[in-house]
Amino acid sequence: MPVVLPEWTPDAPLQPLGFDWSAAAGIELAVLRLDLIDPLISGNKWFKLTHHLQAAAAASAEGLISLGGAHSNHLHALAAAGRRFGFATVGLLRGEPQDTPTVRDLQAFGMHLHWLGYGGYRARHRAGFWEPWQALYPGFSAVPEGGGGLPGALGCAALLTLARRQLAGLGWADYDGWWLAVGTGTTLAGLLLAEAGAHPVYGALAVPADHGVQQQVQAIVQAGGLADGSCRLLEACRGGFAAVDDELLEFIFASEAASGLPLEPLYTGKALMALRRQVEAGYFARGSRLLFVHTGGLQGRTAALQRYQQAGRLD
Ligand SMILES: *Cc1c(COP(=O)(O)O)cnc(C)c1O
Repeated sequence: MPVVLPEWTPDAPLQPLGFDWSAAAGIELAVLRLDLIDPLISGNKWFKLTHHLQAAAAASAEGLISLGGAHSNHLHALAAAGRRFGFATVGLLRGEPQDTPTVRDLQAFGMHLHWLGYGGYRARHRAGFWEPWQALYPGFSAVPEGGGGLPGALGCAALLTLARRQLAGLGWADYDGWWLAVGTGTTLAGLLLAEAGAHPVYGALAVPADHGVQQQVQAIVQAGGLADGSCRLLEACRGGFAAVDDELLEFIFASEAASGLPLEPLYTGKALMALRRQVEAGYFARGSRLLFVHTGGLQGRTAALQRYQQAGRLD
């Protein structure tokens, strides 16, 4: 069954969000809930996939094949989309076979899984890597790891439209910037392209500062025809991607209790915590209105908390 482009435009509610620290600084927040676009598909990874899906449908591909780890939000969104819209998906996984909630979902969604080991996964950038997979799955389209690049960013430009049409409902005539968690910077690059300088985009880095995110963002934005890809990247990773600590978890649990907004520790929790730090430091003028993007990832929440508990550091 060739890939058919779904007739589906997801909706994500834009909700007011308030904490004692934002109120004390006179900052108004609203959250764009990408975690609520669909019961199966969640988060920014859907938006990063849309242009890849369009290309696969245009090529009458037989299915989609991509790569990721045992907790990959990207593979999760791809598998969920395949299930939801009836196309075949293949996931090439890093490392040895593991049983995680994400892997169980991938299997339940009908994704064909292959575990490449660590060495095999590292070979993914080599010439000829795809040949055996293309032979095994003829007619399948390959989506780069994480759904990145310009096609990924162009899909994320839709976030601007989603938020804009709900501003009036909040009683906001305008806003003063976006705040979101950043991994590769693809989602942030999509917002920069859509904004074309109209509003600033602040990125809370969920990866260490030496990961070259600024250069990656600049490259995508320039490929998209915008000369100036300047964004403000702020440190948020707290010692490394996937590093979790007691203070972060306490912040997450307290924020969830205060707002009802579910968070996970790798991206959204760290992004909100970094926002609090900047707000408390007086980074934003009183009266500023900010759009916080909930980029999803909640299906990995339990596993991330369990990994932390098993490391013996919680309580
Ligand atoms: C992948 C991911 C991000 C980062 O997106 P990039 O486009 O790589 O910057 C942020 N939040 C969540 C929940 C993610 O899964």
